[in-house]
Amino acid sequence: MKKLLICLIIVFLLALPIGCGPQAGDSNDGGNGEQQGQEQAQVPQNVIVMIADGMGTGQLEIARLFEHGKEGELFMETLPHLALARTYSADFKVTDSGAAGTALATGNKTNNGMIGVGPDGEELVSILDVFQEQGKTVGVVSTNTVTDATPAAYVSKVEHRSGQDEIARQIFEGRYPIALGGGENFFLPENQDGEDLLAAFEEEGYEIVKSKDELANVETNADTKVLGLFHPSFMNYVADREVLDSEEPSLLEMSQKAIEIASQNEDGFFLMLEGARVDHASHAADFGGIWREMIDFDVAVEYVINWAEEHGDTLVVVKSDHETMGVAATEVMDIDALKSIEVSPEYMAQQMEIDPSTNNYTTESVRQVFEEYANIRLSDEEIAEFQDNVWDGDDPEGRLHLEYLVGWEIGSIIAHHYNAGVIHRDIREKSKSTGGHTANTVPVFAYGVGAENFDGMLNNIEIPKMIVEIAGYEFNLPPEDN
Ligand SMILES: [Zn+2]
Repeated sequence: MKKLLICLIIVFLLALPIGCGPQAGDSNDGGNGEQQGQEQAQVPQNVIVMIADGMGTGQLEIARLFEHGKEGELFMETLPHLALARTYSADFKVTDSGAAGTALATGNKTNNGMIGVGPDGEELVSILDVFQEQGKTVGVVSTNTVTDATPAAYVSKVEHRSGQDEIARQIFEGRYPIALGGGENFFLPENQDGEDLLAAFEEEGYEIVKSKDELANVETNADTKVLGLFHPSFMNYVADREVLDSEEPSLLEMSQKAIEIASQNEDGFFLMLEGARVDHASHAADFGGIWREMIDFDVAVEYVINWAEEHGDTLVVVKSDHETMGVAATEVMDIDALKSIEVSPEYMAQQMEIDPSTNNYTTESVRQVFEEYANIRLSDEEIAEFQDNVWDGDDPEGRLHLEYLVGWEIGSIIAHHYNAGVIHRDIREKSKSTGGHTANTVPVFAYGVGAENFDGMLNNIEIPKMIVEIAGYEFNLPPEDN
């Protein structure tokens, strides 16, 4: 009897450390009891965050239907862990990419338009800096400008997202070794008070690359630092790259290079990779664009997951910052017609001719562009309505809207014509601060070490906190005076 009792106690004591070992990242739902296999490391060496800007479940569904059919599957949909996230900002129900990026980069809600700072302007700690402080190689990649809201939230602190020249300076000050995307203009002397910021990057040992080939030729070693500026502004839509003879790398090519460089560091890395133009195509109600940008992103996700599978020790979180335009898959949507449109609405806007006597597009060129690129024959009334909508009545002189906004009008007409479900242009017009973003929840997919924590309904600010906790760090930096 006594022997049995001692035996039981020994068994109990032996069992204890196994059952109570440090369980990384239990911030979400502590006691769900799901354990990873013994071979799984407890703490990820590398973290890769991938963001499809503007991706809701509607954009997922459009990409899936267009690419794989109703019984098919996107690669990201095969990831083992899934959650949903709420995205509201501090001051609005519906966030912009500034407040949303700040939530994902710092774990704090802020006001729309703000980057890396709280509602009162107080500077917040970025997860990128937390990992850099721990000796990891860090970087950002985006098909937007590298200084636009989502990457900016990781690398800078400004009270308004429009300060992209200041954001460019802060990328330099942060000495982040990898920054790839568009936005060369913001680094040029005319936007830097005459200072040659690019020369300063070069003096710091950065290689500056401007094309797909130059990026491919960057030699990678533990000291590699690269600034890729592949376009003066946003990188081109996937749809337009061929017709524009673009030499830009794809998101996949940028991601491959970023990982190749970052993985030289034996202490690991943290990367944020963004497919930014899902959002832009969604603003334009451009379903062909949503499809192409989403697939461009999904292909990059597949590469990243395969890399993580091969190397282990990595947490990958694939997510979105907010949904854009309430994109919905309707039964009556004409998928074939939408897929056959080969250029973006913005490109179509560039093909329209301006009549010098009215300063508006000529009726004939509007008619011709819709016919040639979208196979739609507009009536005279529809053309007149279009000409009215692209005219900026708020400007006392009266003038055409910017081309990308004209693209929004073109996209809305095409979406309506082919029964694509999306917010009406009038609602987009009224929701000026976000241009048609919605508060719809967004998907969060996770793979790798600690991925099981991403489960259920999350608030966007929990995500970076969970990542930091899973990595075994705290969300702060050693005090320094600045
Ligand atoms: Zn947007």
